Amino acid sequence: MNYLYKALIYDKQASLSVLDTTELVNKAIKIHSLKGGEAELLGGLLTVCAYFSGTLKSDRGAVSMTVKSASGDGSASVSGDKDMHIRGFAEGSCRQSLRGGTLTVIRDDGFFRPFTGACQIESDDVSAMTMDYFYRSEQIPTAVSVGVKLGDDGACLAAGGVIIQLLPGHTEETMDRAEERMQAFADPASLVQSMGAEGIVRTYFSELIDQKGLYLAHPDYICNCSRAKIADVILSLGRKEALDICRERGCVSVHCHYCNTDYTFDEDDILKLFDR
Ligand SMILES: [Zn+2]
Repeated sequence: MNYLYKALIYDKQASLSVLDTTELVNKAIKIHSLKGGEAELLGGLLTVCAYFSGTLKSDRGAVSMTVKSASGDGSASVSGDKDMHIRGFAEGSCRQSLRGGTLTVIRDDGFFRPFTGACQIESDDVSAMTMDYFYRSEQIPTAVSVGVKLGDDGACLAAGGVIIQLLPGHTEETMDRAEERMQAFADPASLVQSMGAEGIVRTYFSELIDQKGLYLAHPDYICNCSRAKIADVILSLGRKEALDICRERGCVSVHCHYCNTDYTFDEDDILKLFDR
């Protein structure tokens, strides 16, 4: 199981999030056959996305993060929603060439127009690029330390981390205390491995937390695609267009990048869709 613990700390001047996303990252590694740096990058982004998903307020809320290399030949994208369903994929050589590229975050709370923020990537480290993003795009001081630890066989031994975000009205003293506390998390994945998210909360934050205000969620790697949703997309093409594509290619096939699933509709399937 994956864990996201959340609480307010320092007299409600900061929000704390502690994550264990080991299982989630392992699912991503299996689905996408991720190796080394690619697993670390996507695993880190999925972990931050789980954090973002935990901040959504509306049931229709959704968030996505995309990193693109400057040359455009590598990218990775993650999405999450209020149900804590997190998914993502990486394309091209996204590890070597991220510096100078962009990180874009789109947050849709389901009420108004989605909020879009972006910043240039100056470090290949997911924690550093996320902190940069918060500081430069949203002007919110946020300390981020997330990590992914891989075993010799390429599986994820541990993933997760600690995120402290300062809230409006925080004092300088709180900022100093948060910074000092974050020093303990230079290697967050090893801490997740040795004590789990709950252990981190207990060991480093218990005296700061009102236990009644401790919130726990279980993010997971779950794709929201389905054959019915793809059928809706085909219906939106209109009968003639859908049949033309089908006759030209033998079938209409749609690939979901998030879960690596192919949905195939032959002519019979398409006729049934439009005649139902
Ligand atoms: Zn899917």
